[in-house]
Amino acid sequence: MQVPIGLRGRAILIVVALIVCSVVGVSVQSVRRTNVILKRNQDLIVEGLGSGLSVAIELPLAVGDIHELRRLSTNFMDLIPDTAFISIQDQSGNAHLDSAKDEQVYQNYVGMSLNDADYTLYIQHFDHSQSHDSNDYFEILGDDQTGQSHANAGRIVICVSNDTLRAAQWAQWKSLAITLTVVMLIAIPIILMIVGGWISRLSQLIECTKHISKGDYSKPITDDKNDEISNLVMAYESMRVAIRERNESEQRRQAELSDAREQADVANQAKSQFLAHMSHEIRTPINGVIGMLELLSMTRLSEKQRKHIRTATSSADALLALINDILDFSKIESGHVEIEKISLDLHDIFESVAEMLAHRSAEKGVELICRIDSSVPRRIIGDPTRIRQVAINLVSNAIKFTDTGDIVIKVTAESNEDQSWGIYVSVADTGIGISPDKQGRLFKSFSQVDATTTRKFGGTGLGLAISKGFVELMEGDIGITPEREIGSEFWFTFNADACSQVVKDKKVFQGVLSNMRTLIVDDNQTNIDIYLEALTNWGMRPTACMDGYEAIQQLVNANETDPYELVILDMQMPGMDGVQLADAIVSNNTIETPTMVMLTSMYHTADSDDLKNLSLAACLQKPVRLSTLHDTLAQHMGTGAIQAIRESTTVADIKDALKGAKALVAEDNTVNQMVIGELLKSVGIEVDIVNNGAEAVSLVLTGNYSFVLMDCEMPELDGYEATDWIRKQELSDSSEHRIPIIALTANAIQGDRERCIDAGMDDYLTKPINAKKLFETLSKWYTPNAEPIDKLTDDSAEPTANSNPANESYVHPQHTIGLVDSRLISPIDFDGALARCAGNKEVFSLVLEEFEKVTQTLELELADLLLQSDMIQIAKQAHSLKGAAANIGATQLANHAKALESATKNIDVTLSEIEVCNIAASLASLRQQFPALIEKLRQAA
Ligand code: ADP
Repeated sequence: MQVPIGLRGRAILIVVALIVCSVVGVSVQSVRRTNVILKRNQDLIVEGLGSGLSVAIELPLAVGDIHELRRLSTNFMDLIPDTAFISIQDQSGNAHLDSAKDEQVYQNYVGMSLNDADYTLYIQHFDHSQSHDSNDYFEILGDDQTGQSHANAGRIVICVSNDTLRAAQWAQWKSLAITLTVVMLIAIPIILMIVGGWISRLSQLIECTKHISKGDYSKPITDDKNDEISNLVMAYESMRVAIRERNESEQRRQAELSDAREQADVANQAKSQFLAHMSHEIRTPINGVIGMLELLSMTRLSEKQRKHIRTATSSADALLALINDILDFSKIESGHVEIEKISLDLHDIFESVAEMLAHRSAEKGVELICRIDSSVPRRIIGDPTRIRQVAINLVSNAIKFTDTGDIVIKVTAESNEDQSWGIYVSVADTGIGISPDKQGRLFKSFSQVDATTTRKFGGTGLGLAISKGFVELMEGDIGITPEREIGSEFWFTFNADACSQVVKDKKVFQGVLSNMRTLIVDDNQTNIDIYLEALTNWGMRPTACMDGYEAIQQLVNANETDPYELVILDMQMPGMDGVQLADAIVSNNTIETPTMVMLTSMYHTADSDDLKNLSLAACLQKPVRLSTLHDTLAQHMGTGAIQAIRESTTVADIKDALKGAKALVAEDNTVNQMVIGELLKSVGIEVDIVNNGAEAVSLVLTGNYSFVLMDCEMPELDGYEATDWIRKQELSDSSEHRIPIIALTANAIQGDRERCIDAGMDDYLTKPINAKKLFETLSKWYTPNAEPIDKLTDDSAEPTANSNPANESYVHPQHTIGLVDSRLISPIDFDGALARCAGNKEVFSLVLEEFEKVTQTLELELADLLLQSDMIQIAKQAHSLKGAAANIGATQLANHAKALESATKNIDVTLSEIEVCNIAASLASLRQQFPALIEKLRQAA
């Protein structure tokens, strides 16, 4: 395992190792040199004294004076105490004298086993016949203990012990070790001190770096030594100071910036709130002005006065539009817009926008086409108001800036991976277009492309900015298609959640139209594409041509083999128009006249005489909804068969399902009583009607009812309280029978359903009552001759206020009265109201009469209540009117009643006054139309 050693440890290790190596190296060198010198000294001494001895023994040796020889040897050995023995030998090696201090050593020498590491042998040769100076020589023996022999010479062998030499060497090593130890003892602390100092200065630098890396620049670092580290520290310190200062100034700038941003935000919010407040304040009196102008226009006026009123009204309308734009814009800017998420009919939104704006484009002779791709789901979850608003803005702009050609609204959809939908909408026109260099300015608030446009066409320059705000809130985008040859194309996208509710197909009609050979005659390619696609989808066999002459040709050609059964022809076509074409077809003897359906613009409507004269089966106003086209075709191509199918699949079934049912209706408004009563009776249900909750409670306990239809807001005892009573009573009676109570409410707001269910009701229907929904709900809660069972389902909660009966398979009233154009009897939604009366025109006329009767003095009553400031009573009246007006299809009046109800609840006197005026105006206009309408209904019945 590796033990991590710090910088300090490593530095010390290296330095110590270096010191030890160098000290040991130097010392060993010097000890070894000293040893050599010691040895040499010993050799020199022994040699010198040995030479002296060899001279001194000449005489005693010659005379054989052994004593003298011994004395000389002894002297020698005294002089060199380490001498082990001295052997004086002749040339043959015979000893003349052996003098040994250590006999054993001498014996070893003789036995040739002397350990030469412990002893050194010196041999002095001599020759008596020669002058000893020149001939004597001295030999130090190593391995060869015998030495060389020399002629005529003897020799002295001196054996010296190496002990002293060894001791001296050992002492040397010891002193070396001591020196080394002392050096280390002194050096290591010094090293530690010096290296440690460096390291701790560097550590201080590291610490400081750590702080800096954490963004803390406050810790200063100093080093007053004058070396490289201190230079580094000083450089580091000046860097720290520089960064800290830069940081501090950056923070100051950030704080100033965020202060400024906050102030700007506050100012912006204040501005937006002011704008919102102002526009609200301005809107209120403008509404008053418009209402008063409407009232004024109903009085007897000269033509000049009428003109002035028209001008004043259009100015007020323009002002109102402007204020509405500013209000929307300021709401978006101040973040006060909330996007709704409710179930909506996407097809209906775009078709109704096209219908709504059709008259404006028709006025200019521009064709408005709405093309909804088959990929587009009908029901989605989204914000219908905002989607409609953006579409209206783009289409209005297109109409404003287009004088000839057409405007095409195209809607496509793509399903996303997460089950949601990405919707793409484009509005393309053939108008003045926008040059690419100016396109960048669009979508910015208050920005028009150029001043002349503004002067000519008017506008605030807010429409696109508002649209952008809305689509962005719906997770979408908005833009303009660059580089178009003619006109301009704006598009927007948004995301929408899928809706589990499925809209039923009109399968009942499919058989009737199937395989029908049809000729489409229209000069507009987009229209042709739309109808071709739709008709093919309905199983028909469509062919198209772009002018009347070609159409005649085709009809003639096909007549023999496969004649056309149906011709859909456009009214406005260059060359031969629709009327001329129809005429030409009828008067052409080679063609068997097919059924003809004419499509016209608002300003070229054919009246019934035209229809009759031209042998037209129907005349539909463009842009025509595909569902309307389908129904019209099916109606005229299928006649009796269709009626039979309809009967058998709807009303008959309903009658069957609800056979023997008895209903209790608790409703305070007589118009509503009538509508619901007649609806129920129309399918054979026996009905009892009461005026309030208290009566409902007493009757429910006595009568044998299948279900109760309970209005929520009623005098004395409201629907919630009445339900509570009934449920408590059922409990105390330990009754096993739980009567189904179905709420009827004009409040289609979120949380309303929950409130009804919490109060003990079983289901929920919104006003105005949709007949199909009503019967569906009732049959869900009613089982003939059986106890009701709990089968509340979620889809019953779907508010029906906006649902379009034209999309349902229930009897469409339009079919039952032939070619009555609902737009002629505006402001009443004729179709919707008739559907609520189960398509019974007699009942509808009675309902209208009743409505007229109960509202005869309503505006006076409301004015009176206003004078008394009785807001509670006004709210009740408004609530009741809201439901009744919605039931007869008087949508505008219902909206004013709703606005009055909320104004009184908010104690907004000014707005209440305005809405009372608006209600008066709406009632006046309705009353003008009632007699003719009632008459028409009677006749048709
Ligand atoms: P405004 O209310 O003034 O129409 P918008 O934001 O809706 O404001 O439009 C901004 C400007 O964009 C218009 O004034 C016009 O110059 C230009 N513009 C918008 N739509 C079109 C179009 N379809 N064709 C030509 N110009 C258009």
